[in-house]
Amino acid sequence: MYKYADWHTFFCNESTAFLRIPLRAHTNSNNLRSHVGEIKAEAQETWRKLWTHSDKAGHLRRILSREGTEAGPKLYNNIADRRSVLTLVQLRTGYCALNKYLHRIGKKDSPKCTCTHGIESVEHYLLDCPKYQVQRAELREAVNPGDITVAKLLENCKTFKHTMEYIRATGRMEDRET
Ligand SMILES: [Zn+2]
Repeated sequence: MYKYADWHTFFCNESTAFLRIPLRAHTNSNNLRSHVGEIKAEAQETWRKLWTHSDKAGHLRRILSREGTEAGPKLYNNIADRRSVLTLVQLRTGYCALNKYLHRIGKKDSPKCTCTHGIESVEHYLLDCPKYQVQRAELREAVNPGDITVAKLLENCKTFKHTMEYIRATGRMEDRET
């Protein structure tokens, strides 16, 4: 088990420090509101740096090469809560709390999914893992038509809203290691 703060720490300490989006405890709603503004500003800067660091942006570029994909500030500013912004950045870059990445940074012994059907990558988690068939059926229906791809699920606010529902329903990206 590890706390979200720990996850955030190793996330930020990776060579991807430019992905940092500050996460702090909020004691009241005013703090949170002002922090959302900071998050959005930082998300824009994060996006700009991601885009200009071509060696880090391959995964992202593949997604964005699709016509109709909403780009950085527009997309990030349309996503109200900081957790969703962070999740989106993580999934788009592959730097997320799934075993493929956790294994790469030494936090997991194996990159394999607990379903035993392969490596737990973003693609496996979103599209293939048999553990989440029920949640995926709902996602597929919401996104409609049925042909879902990683790029489609992460490409714009309208679709990503449903992807976030899937993520919440699976509980896989929660604050704990499973
Ligand atoms: Zn699996």
